[in-house]
Parts: sequence; C-alpha cells; structure tokens
Amino acid sequence: MLLMKDIMQEGNPVLRKRAHEVKLPIAEEDYQSLREMMNYILNSQNDSMVEEYGLRPSVGLAAPQIGISKKMFCMHTYDESGETLYSYAVVNPKIISFSEEQTYIPSGEGCLSVDEEKNGLVSRAARIKAKAILVNLDTLETSEVILKLSGYVGIVFQHEYDHLHGILFIDKKKETISGVKPVIFAEDEPTAE
Ligand SMILES: [Zn+2]
Repeated sequence: MLLMKDIMQEGNPVLRKRAHEVKLPIAEEDYQSLREMMNYILNSQNDSMVEEYGLRPSVGLAAPQIGISKKMFCMHTYDESGETLYSYAVVNPKIISFSEEQTYIPSGEGCLSVDEEKNGLVSRAARIKAKAILVNLDTLETSEVILKLSGYVGIVFQHEYDHLHGILFIDKKKETISGVKPVIFAEDEPTAE
C-alpha cells in the first residue's frame, strides 16, 4: 500500500512534467497504479488507517504524485451537498470546456505533494465538461464518457487534471478572491488534495 513516503513532494521534477497519454488498451501495470492510488485515497479517509500509517487525508491523487508521468488520476469524494459520491479512476482526460463563471473552496485547496502550511485559495471554473476514459476498478471495464462536473467535484477534477500538466495549485493560489461565489458545503469543508 502507498504511504506518505511514496508521494512525490514539491521540488521533485516529475511533478512539473507534462504526463504522457496512457497507451490503450490499458496495461496491467496501469490498472495496478490506479488501484494503488484509489486505495491510498480510501485509506486516507479512514480514521484508524490515518492514525496507524500517518496518512494525510485526500480526495484525489494523480499518477505523477507517485512518480508515474502518465495521464491518470483517481478521485473519491462526495459533492458539496454530501449526497452524491464521485468515485472515478480516470485515464487520458481532456477538459473540453470551462465555464467563464468561477468558484473556489472557501477553506482553500491543499495537496499531498505540497506542505499543509501552503494551503490556499484557488479560483477555478464553476463548471467543466471533460472527455475521459473511466475504469471500473472491480471489473476493469472501461468506458469513454463525457463528464459534466460543477462546484466542488469540478474543482477536485481540475486540481488533479493540473497535475497531469505539471501544474500545482500553489501556482494559481491567491491571497483573496472577490466577486466569485464560493462552494457552499452542507457540512464541514473538505479540501481538494
Ligand atoms: Zn494535488
């Protein structure tokens, strides 16, 4: 299982590379990487695992963060209403449209590859449309989909997508954001990792 020591930290050049397309059909080692990434996220959302293994909680993890410069990431989180789970293993995503309207997480974004003290505000598209291959990690079935995501889960997707292009949230971080509606959470505010 992946631990924090396996997560590349800011300063590591792999985080600044443009990742390569995943070759199709998806190879066994790529499925394996997706499974490991998803398992890290799931473990990091389990209090006893967090305590036992010193995991930083997360909702997403991209392949470059574990040293693999390929276009794939996983995300596993509820939307801001707390009602709908978005659990995706994503391969070769392409965001095909960004809304002009922006939004942001009022408690700021964070990233497993960046020190927690650097968490901060990032303005992102309120809605995106993306083309991607989704992998069902139980059956290994794949499907080519068009995803329409808005609000919090759209932000998480954009944060992970940036990792595939060598971009970290700290590149986009602002001291204050004005004239933009924040995401409103029904319960406590998570951060996009
Ligand atoms: Zn990140």
